[in-house]
Amino acid sequence: MFGRAAKRSDNTKYYEVLGVSKNASQDELKKAYRKAAIKNHPDKGGDPEKFKELGQAYEVLTDPEKRDIYDQYGEDGLKEGMGGGAGHNPFDIFEQFFPSAFGGGGSSRFRRQPQGEDIMQTLKVSLEDLYNGTTKKLSLSRKILCPKCKGKGSKSGASSHCHGCHGSGMKTTTRQIGLGMIQQMQHVCPDCRGSGEVINQKDKCPQCKGNKVTPEKNVMEVHVEKGMKNGQKIEFEGKADEAPDTVTGDVVFVLQEKEHPRFKRKYDDLYVEHKLTLTEALCGFQFVLTHLDGRQLLIRSNPGEVIKPDQYKAINDEGMPQYQKPFMKGRLYVHFSVEFPDSLPLELSQALEKILPSKPRKKVSEMELEACEETTLHDVNIEEEMKRKQQQRVQEAYDEDDEDDDEPRVQCAQQ
Ligand SMILES: [Zn+2]
Ligand SMILES: [Zn+2]
Repeated sequence: MFGRAAKRSDNTKYYEVLGVSKNASQDELKKAYRKAAIKNHPDKGGDPEKFKELGQAYEVLTDPEKRDIYDQYGEDGLKEGMGGGAGHNPFDIFEQFFPSAFGGGGSSRFRRQPQGEDIMQTLKVSLEDLYNGTTKKLSLSRKILCPKCKGKGSKSGASSHCHGCHGSGMKTTTRQIGLGMIQQMQHVCPDCRGSGEVINQKDKCPQCKGNKVTPEKNVMEVHVEKGMKNGQKIEFEGKADEAPDTVTGDVVFVLQEKEHPRFKRKYDDLYVEHKLTLTEALCGFQFVLTHLDGRQLLIRSNPGEVIKPDQYKAINDEGMPQYQKPFMKGRLYVHFSVEFPDSLPLELSQALEKILPSKPRKKVSEMELEACEETTLHDVNIEEEMKRKQQQRVQEAYDEDDEDDDEPRVQCAQQ
């Protein structure tokens, strides 16, 4: 025992495999296993090793006694405690969850049960929704197994093999396409529409007319939690279309954050633009900002403070709430721009010069001034100018290329 305690045992792997926290409840473990096991089932192309690990982790962590040993001594502790590790079958555990997945007979243990499609649905939410949290009610129609015939499609529960395809659901036709060449084509059997079975007309379930499924209108309450992000998924397990002998897929809502007219979000922070007049930038300002929950924030400069163009200021704890920790909030950044007047009347400019810090006084003598050349400052829109010049360069390069094609290339030889 001492030797074992001295060695730091790994007692987190099982939790990590299932993707749960150390204090996960039985329910959380079940949920995590169910989800991961479907995804990693070898029949669905999953990694058999991973699938085995999942079963092992699940088996240990749901047994209070074993979990206790594992938490203290890790996997090694279990091996010793259980006499070399009993050979458990990961498929047995899987079967407890999905008994219908394996046709009941032991021989068909590995029979493939198709996984139904997930239904993905975009859910547009405002920044206010993500800040405050909200519940959206959405009406969705889906197919469910007919409750009258329990998905059998017939009154008696009986169905028989389709004669057209001998129950396979597919038909093969051959045709000659050339000398001694035969083309084989496979297509879905039209008699049974691929199901491989037919139901006697008189025996058809009156509710679903033999289709086995019926449409159902479903109102779903989607809880959008505070701090959720653009692209985050909210899943409803097993709420997609039902079909006979199929693991029902999930309905997945994918959040799409709508653009906000005032606030921009980056992670847990919020950004807001604010324009100041020159007077406000120099002499102080205050304004009221209505936050995403309707609170009025008074934002003002410190006495004597000057705000420069393009400057940022931050307000703590007024950003977005963190997902699942809504009391923790990011920062709210205010990005200032300053509007300068285009011109000033001369008297005003002279008056200002008296008040503002003095200009740099570098002495230029009359003699020196005479020697200088006069210049003119023109107004420019520098971005447009750059764009124009860039286009010009592209055009020139293109023209040059054209010329090159016509002439023999002799320039290289000259160098
Ligand atoms: Zn058929
Ligand atoms: Zn029915």
